[in-house]
Amino acid sequence: MKYVLSIDQGTTSSRAIVFDENQKIIAESQKEYELQYPNDGWVEANPDEILSSVKETIKKALESADVDIAACGITNQRETVIVWDRLTGKPIYPAIIWQDRRTSDLCNDLKKKKNLESEIRKKTGLLLDPYFSATKIKWILDNVESARSMAENGELCFGTIETYLIWNLTEEKNHKTDATNASRTMLMNLETLGWDDSLLEIFNIPKNILPEICSCDDNFGSIGACDQKFPITGVIGDQQSALFGQNCFEFGEMKSTYGTGCFLMVNTKEKIYESQARLLSTVGCMLGKSVSYALEGSIFSAGTSIQWLRDEMQFFDDSSKSEELINEDFDSKGVNFIPAFTGLGAPHWNSEIRGSIHGIQRDSSKEDIITAVFKAICFQTLEIVEALELDGVSVRSLKVDGGMVKNRKFLQLLSNTLSTNVKKPDQIESTAVGAFKIAMLGSGIKDIDEIQEIGLYDEVKSKQSQQLSDDYQIWKNYLTKNL
Ligand code: ADP
Repeated sequence: MKYVLSIDQGTTSSRAIVFDENQKIIAESQKEYELQYPNDGWVEANPDEILSSVKETIKKALESADVDIAACGITNQRETVIVWDRLTGKPIYPAIIWQDRRTSDLCNDLKKKKNLESEIRKKTGLLLDPYFSATKIKWILDNVESARSMAENGELCFGTIETYLIWNLTEEKNHKTDATNASRTMLMNLETLGWDDSLLEIFNIPKNILPEICSCDDNFGSIGACDQKFPITGVIGDQQSALFGQNCFEFGEMKSTYGTGCFLMVNTKEKIYESQARLLSTVGCMLGKSVSYALEGSIFSAGTSIQWLRDEMQFFDDSSKSEELINEDFDSKGVNFIPAFTGLGAPHWNSEIRGSIHGIQRDSSKEDIITAVFKAICFQTLEIVEALELDGVSVRSLKVDGGMVKNRKFLQLLSNTLSTNVKKPDQIESTAVGAFKIAMLGSGIKDIDEIQEIGLYDEVKSKQSQQLSDDYQIWKNYLTKNL
């Protein structure tokens, strides 16, 4: 039996899981770390803390598993930026987390330049938004003392989280990234899979600070830990990792992760879509020289709406209790909820709109509001599925993961809303599973056919409901009026 370590570096915590080659979890460890909010819209973290949280979880997982590790995979929060001194390895500024909005004005200025946004969109598949790494790197180079001159002298390195981890964890101190993470920087050309000189010029970023772009199943160097030495043979961004972990290998296979927010991703194989519906095109996975692309839609509020019902409305004291409070036949009795706490993501991309409740009557109850909230999460998913259809991608299957999918009634409502069966894996940690699978491929423990056989699914069968279709139209009318 072979064993693989999967490192999952997320926005609020780092995790390390030791799997056996059949995907059974042997040991796991998790450590949270702090985010800082030094200014309105700014989100930062201390890179040393991120690194030590990863090292600590690796050590704990290895000690508890007490097995020989054959290979390691890394998956990570994407877009987050770290810039460090090539000589000392010391970061010159805190990590700027993907949620950080400090470069909004810069993005708005760039949008005013004729054809620039469409050129960027065509090359990168992304929207000109602070979310992605490019403007964050530029901000560091322009605002940290001596940064620009150091960069021009070849004294700095840039990396998203996986690159920073690879640099610090490998004995070789490799400066490498993979194509999925690179595709989120807004500096990589989706077609050539290389850094794009004209994009570098637009954002005024010297090429010498960038890492080498590798396939996800490349050899990224070796880690020494707990008297063991093993290679990193899998690296992939978190949402792409979940897509892979969910075995979405065919065109039109989609996964949807319902955590705090909701991230949908569909495999489009070799085709790069120029979405008419403001979805993002991105690299789904790159194995050897073979690349598959993906379309992505993000919904900002999913589980966070359930937390709001729990913490602010105090309708229940534990998220799991929400299930028994959903009305029979998913009837919210005319109540409609627009979950726009922080604006709306795909396909609207509206950061001004805020949440609202409509259709309240004298006898509306908390159960009606709870039911309306769950329906709104499903309706948002349907909006993305419709956007995909508009782009010419028909969704063949939907696989789900994330904390919310423990709720059976929610899954039934989702499957009825989408008129599609929904599949839930027995192992809902799809993100860590993806990196584990890629690492197995990269190290030759299993091949691509063997990998597809791993993992069991529980299928929720869709029940047709005219009422839900009508409710969706009413909900959309409320939404459109608010936009
Ligand atoms: P993240 O990775 O974004 O931190 P998780 O995947 O751990 O999130 O999911 C946590 C979210 O799932 C929380 O917002 C929580 O309210 C929600 N959640 C957990 N259990 C349930 C449940 N049984 N029904 C509905 N929502 C749930």
